[in-house]
Amino acid sequence: MKNVNLDYSILMKNAIKYGDVKGHIPYNDWINNPEAVTLIEHGCQFNCAFCGGSNFAYKNNFFNKSPIFRDPKQVAREIQSAYEVLGAPVFVVGDINQAGPKFYEGLFKEIKEMGIDVPLLTEYFKPPSLEYLQSLSKTFPDFTAEISPESSNQKIRERNSFF
Ligand code: SF4
Repeated sequence: MKNVNLDYSILMKNAIKYGDVKGHIPYNDWINNPEAVTLIEHGCQFNCAFCGGSNFAYKNNFFNKSPIFRDPKQVAREIQSAYEVLGAPVFVVGDINQAGPKFYEGLFKEIKEMGIDVPLLTEYFKPPSLEYLQSLSKTFPDFTAEISPESSNQKIRERNSFF
């Protein structure tokens, strides 16, 4: 995963090559409301009971280390490339704050140096620190922050949490 390059231009070429645009879109309304995606890590720090991407799931099914963070420069390149190809906001999968200051400062530095100006969708598994949010908002004037509690029932959420 560290060396994978998520390249949307290949997806577009394949959609044309095989005459199958519908088969290459990720969700029904994508044509009207497109969103690109990249990811910062392989595996997760946490162990939610239902999740196939959890720390436990990755360590026991794929590699013995989890999470493994991708190269911030590569993530920044993919954000830039996805926006250039699709002109759509980019969803960054994985909690950038949980990756730690070394990672997120490195990522934001690469993004600034590349002059990337993209609406960014970010997600959080725990409330981010104030320092992180300040750094994010200086890098991206247009961003959203998302949480996914999965259930409105506190008892279910408690049973799911094996952090
Ligand atoms: S925080 Fe998200 S990705 Fe991580 S284990 Fe929980 S549901 Fe899965």
